[in-house]
Amino acid sequence: MARLRLHGRPAEPTLSDPERPVILWFRADLRISDNPALNAAAATGRKIICIFVHDEESPGLRPLGGAARWWLHGSLEALDGDLRRRGAWLSIYRGRTQTIILGLAAETNAAAIFWNRRYGGAERQLDETLKSALKTQGVEAKSFNGHLLHEPWEIRTKAGQPFRVFSAFWRAAQETRDPVLPLPAPARLEPFRSDHRKGLQAVTLADLALEPSTPDWASGLRSSWRRGEQGAHDQLDRFLDKHIGNYAGFRDYPDRAATSRLSPYLRFGNISPRQLWHAAAAATHAEGHGTSYRNLEKFQTELGWREFSYHLLYRHPDLANRNLQPQFDAMPWRIDPQALRAWQTGRTGYPFVDAGMRELWHTGWMHNRVRMIVASFLVKHLLIDWRQGEQWFWDTLVDADPANNPASWQWVAGSGADAAPYFRVFNPVLQGEKFDPDGTYIRRWLPELSSLPSSSIHRPCELEGITAGYPERIVEHKQARARALQAYKDLRTTS
Ligand code: FAD
Repeated sequence: MARLRLHGRPAEPTLSDPERPVILWFRADLRISDNPALNAAAATGRKIICIFVHDEESPGLRPLGGAARWWLHGSLEALDGDLRRRGAWLSIYRGRTQTIILGLAAETNAAAIFWNRRYGGAERQLDETLKSALKTQGVEAKSFNGHLLHEPWEIRTKAGQPFRVFSAFWRAAQETRDPVLPLPAPARLEPFRSDHRKGLQAVTLADLALEPSTPDWASGLRSSWRRGEQGAHDQLDRFLDKHIGNYAGFRDYPDRAATSRLSPYLRFGNISPRQLWHAAAAATHAEGHGTSYRNLEKFQTELGWREFSYHLLYRHPDLANRNLQPQFDAMPWRIDPQALRAWQTGRTGYPFVDAGMRELWHTGWMHNRVRMIVASFLVKHLLIDWRQGEQWFWDTLVDADPANNPASWQWVAGSGADAAPYFRVFNPVLQGEKFDPDGTYIRRWLPELSSLPSSSIHRPCELEGITAGYPERIVEHKQARARALQAYKDLRTTS
């Protein structure tokens, strides 16, 4: 290693020393294409160390739920394979981020560490502390935007304030620049070979025990998904080929499976929103007829909702715990473990709700329309605190997202920034009849109802004797709706 000698002592290592490697710290950006931090690291011309830190020790970091851990395992495995095809590999560490990063930087004499930004409160705090510690250690720390179309602080009202309402936020976002074009994956990565006999030890992926063993509850997940970057691109191609042309018209119908199902890939950064944005635009331009633009616009607006959730998370780091509207602190939520269990296991007696909850348990994912119905059912029909639902989703969704999940729950509950009106209490029977008119979705997830005719599949309780094994309704819609409206009204009048 080249070292300058000044006054007989070895000089402090300088950033200009080309022998010093660069560390690429992967976080929620588990891909090699359109990864700005990775491209920047490769462009330094230095040897590279690719790492992932599994941190369950630093204060404030929310532990991943079971389904997300399963997804993470597959993503890390795929990323390691993708890096190896370019000459590098992924080293996995377990423990406190600060200890590992500072230790590794010192041990390898790294010149720099690059990463793509995260937006949760604890993560930002950790990154900030780390950045200054690295600086003191003579290591350059550089962060990039690999997760969003626009940084949360870039979109502001004319008065410089953050937005509270989605439509105004999205209008302003679209008036700024177009999302930048995605970057190609670096063709080749030059790996740094460190001396593993000393210092920090990497662990194997298996050591992290991210996948379930006994019981192995992940078989439904395995048959539903192919994790990793290639899986994301295959999924995107399928969506662009088959579904985007009907997206605006069919996206609300769970029986049609017309949405992209890219949410877990976005959550873990197996694909970037910029890649989606531009690929959808290119496919639509190639198609070139009027109705396609409506589909494109609708799809891009959904990406806009994701941006808005991050905008909220950035401003409200405690989004998953605290009502954005403080008057909701006085909401008389019910404690009802039996009803909560019936909801979690898909045994409420409302087929549309139960089908959604069983789809979630089996695949780790649920259609957006059904998410809204099941969430509304928990919060309004059962008057159970939205945080209990958020936590269940956090544990069972493969796309459990620190911004989208709490922001959506608060939206449904009415406690959020730009919330659904309090008097909107979805009728789960009418919603089922409207968005799954033939009962195809119900039949897929509730086999005990599969022989019912479409005319009664959403209201089996009105039939006699032929719904063996399917539960009675745990609440009656009419009474539950009246109870919810009263509770919400009381809240408004007392606050
Ligand atoms: P598409 O319709 O193909 O949309 C493309 C992408 O846009 C999605 O992958 C997603 O990243 C984004 N998107 C779409 N709809 C929304 C939305 N309403 N809000 C924010 N972003 C959106 N989404 C998550 O990614 N993670 C969550 O943990 C999550 N929890 C939710 C909880 C509740 C109660 C509700 C009502 C919604 C939740 N959503 C969550 C939002 C939405 O349901 C999913 O993003 C969507 O169903 C994913 O399916 P898709 O990829 O086929 O979406």
